[in-house]
Amino acid sequence: MRKKFIAGNWKMNTNYKDSHDLAEQIKGGLTEFDYENADVVLCPPFTSLSIVNDVIVDSPVMLGAQNVFYEDDGAYTGEISAGMLRAVGCNYVIVGHSERRQYFGETNDIINKKVLKALGYEINPILCVGETLEERDGERQEDVVGKQVRECIANLNAPDIEKVIIAYEPVWAIGTGVNATSEQANDMHKFIRGIITELYDEKTSSKVRILYGGSMKPSNSKELLSQSDIDGGLIGGASLEAGSFTEIIRNI
Ligand code: PEP
Repeated sequence: MRKKFIAGNWKMNTNYKDSHDLAEQIKGGLTEFDYENADVVLCPPFTSLSIVNDVIVDSPVMLGAQNVFYEDDGAYTGEISAGMLRAVGCNYVIVGHSERRQYFGETNDIINKKVLKALGYEINPILCVGETLEERDGERQEDVVGKQVRECIANLNAPDIEKVIIAYEPVWAIGTGVNATSEQANDMHKFIRGIITELYDEKTSSKVRILYGGSMKPSNSKELLSQSDIDGGLIGGASLEAGSFTEIIRNI
């Protein structure tokens, strides 16, 4: 039985003080029962990792970053290494978010390097994959997502793939208010799990958690999270409002 996993991607929102307050509100809104039901991860901007870690350090809430660079250190102005993330308490890092693919030209090859580097520092990658509307309209979603999954997890052994959280995030559903139906999402999650089975084995793939992301909110989370292969959510907009985020967790 895979434990549910709920991560909040705050994106480029919340300054230092806002982050502190939001983390306090989320922590205050969750009970022991909620933590038994789900692993909870907050992914604030880099500048707030430290303050959010201070807030959650004595709770089961865990810390994630939104990006990482694949080199250890050196002349890479503006980049942040996995070692730096580890040192401020990160257990998770989002890699390959569609906004990074779209606006910053991240390729599957770059994302694969980031996945490998994060794992090298005992940080669990939350690997995002997902098709655009045009690709879905052309019924190419499985080709696109299959290629993303295979190329982004290249060179990972079985113990490592079990540490990766995969987030299926159809680009057309991110920030649009239009979520994938539970059937569309679950079908894709099964397809992704099938690839993990093919590349590793069934025992391994049964342990990998696959999240859905794309306009998840309290009104649709229960149905999405009750599907056989949807193991949690990567939540953008609704994670910026403590009440909505905690309600999603409580509704599991
Ligand atoms: C995301 O950016 O990962 C996301 C799922 O955003 P939203 O929930 O706002 O669609």
